[in-house]
Amino acid sequence: MGVIHVVGGGLAGCEASWQLAERGHRVVLHEMRPLRTTPAHKSDRLAELVCSNTFKSTETTNAHGLLKAEMRALGSMILAAADEARVPGGSALTVDRELFARAVHERVHAHPNIRVDVGEVTDLPEPGIVATGPLTSESLTRAIAERLGTGALAFYDAIAPIVAGDSIDTSIAFRAARWGKETMAGAGGEGAYFNCPFTRERYEAFLDALVAADQYAGQAFDPIPYFEGCMPVEEMAKRGRDTLRFGPMKPIGLRDPRTGVRPWAVAQLRMEDRDGRMWNLVGFQTRMRTGEQQRVLRMIPGLEQAEFLRWGSIHRNSYVNAPAALAPHLALRDAPTTLLAGQLTGVEGYTESTATGLLAGINLDRMLRGDEPVLPPTTTMLGALYRYLRDADPAHFQPMNANFGLVDDLVEPVRDKQTKRLRLAERALADLVGWRDEWAVSIDARHLLSR
Ligand code: FAD
Repeated sequence: MGVIHVVGGGLAGCEASWQLAERGHRVVLHEMRPLRTTPAHKSDRLAELVCSNTFKSTETTNAHGLLKAEMRALGSMILAAADEARVPGGSALTVDRELFARAVHERVHAHPNIRVDVGEVTDLPEPGIVATGPLTSESLTRAIAERLGTGALAFYDAIAPIVAGDSIDTSIAFRAARWGKETMAGAGGEGAYFNCPFTRERYEAFLDALVAADQYAGQAFDPIPYFEGCMPVEEMAKRGRDTLRFGPMKPIGLRDPRTGVRPWAVAQLRMEDRDGRMWNLVGFQTRMRTGEQQRVLRMIPGLEQAEFLRWGSIHRNSYVNAPAALAPHLALRDAPTTLLAGQLTGVEGYTESTATGLLAGINLDRMLRGDEPVLPPTTTMLGALYRYLRDADPAHFQPMNANFGLVDDLVEPVRDKQTKRLRLAERALADLVGWRDEWAVSIDARHLLSR
């Protein structure tokens, strides 16, 4: 077998290299640091965590905890290194970042099938995996953009919060589209949006809270060039008392069916998935801190008790519009053995990035042995994330983190949230293990097959 090139020695690239090497492939892992660095990285170590030192919850009733449990069932090296570097953090997998990076660095360097090459790569390898992250170097960014076509690569994300559909108070929020247009096919002719109606008093109070909310200051290298499509909602609010009411919160063409009158302002939610489990708060991209988002966004009529599946954010972030440009296993459509992994694919977060590296390693191994790539079922967190990257609306594509709104609903509805999560997690883990064994994708199974 020939050599496989993996580009980017971050979380996804190290995990992918490990998975390939353990399956008997010779891997060259290319990392540009310390010859060239990114604006956020500070060391020459592989798998440097650039910001927080936590992989979040380990509880399987939490979406991140479930994803980690699935990754453990598939033999994640990154999680094994994180366990070794763990520091007290309650139910979260929190690590000493130095020990963690060292644990990954030493494992990767010591593997007999991996060679680490220091240097910037400026083209896409075939076969290979590109996992150069949210701060991909300029020349490689250009190469990706040229290969995938203009518009397929974004440089900033402007993420609006997502709310669980079953947590919207439908005695307040009403379904309608402006002027009665855009009814949803297959949704009983209901209006395409949920509309949260504001009275004048509630709008004024909401504006006051929005303007006063504490914002994330951002990194020095991260001066976001705001343009109209990604202006933070709090910045718009600061421009004038009516800016939002004439902008994303405009009420024109809408009447509250319960009162028959046009609200003073509305917050609209757009369906994010076909089954209506996730709803995107239109135009509410924000730099408010998470705690502030919790407080301020729950002032929206109808969202007082809402479950937020994703919080808003705005960052510098190179990512591909996966549903528009990639094959379902996250490869180039004209080169199936050139895969993308990590944050570059449009997932968001340490765990999610690592998970796509893991699956990229599994699938590249399969393809090089003449098998088809495979994806876990959409009842699992990993399979559901991949479904999002395949099926999301390319016109509104924004990066996504693990959350329960992504996975298939239970066949028998369960009202109690904690019981529901428990059932979803049990089903996900059973299905993941079933899938792993059916396709023999675990490292042990591969070793047996190749003997
Ligand atoms: P990375 O871990 O960034 O790895 C990519 C690697 O590729 C880097 O080592 C880079 O040096 C290298 N590289 C880039 N270009 C080239 C090239 N041309 N040739 C060779 N090597 C190259 N997520 C969280 O869950 N929690 C957080 O707190 C968090 N904070 C973040 C803070 C910042 C400033 C940013 C930008 C992102 C943050 N993220 C966070 C999001 C994301 O989960 C992390 O960036 C994560 O590290 C992504 O993993 P990755 O493997 O895709 O990329």
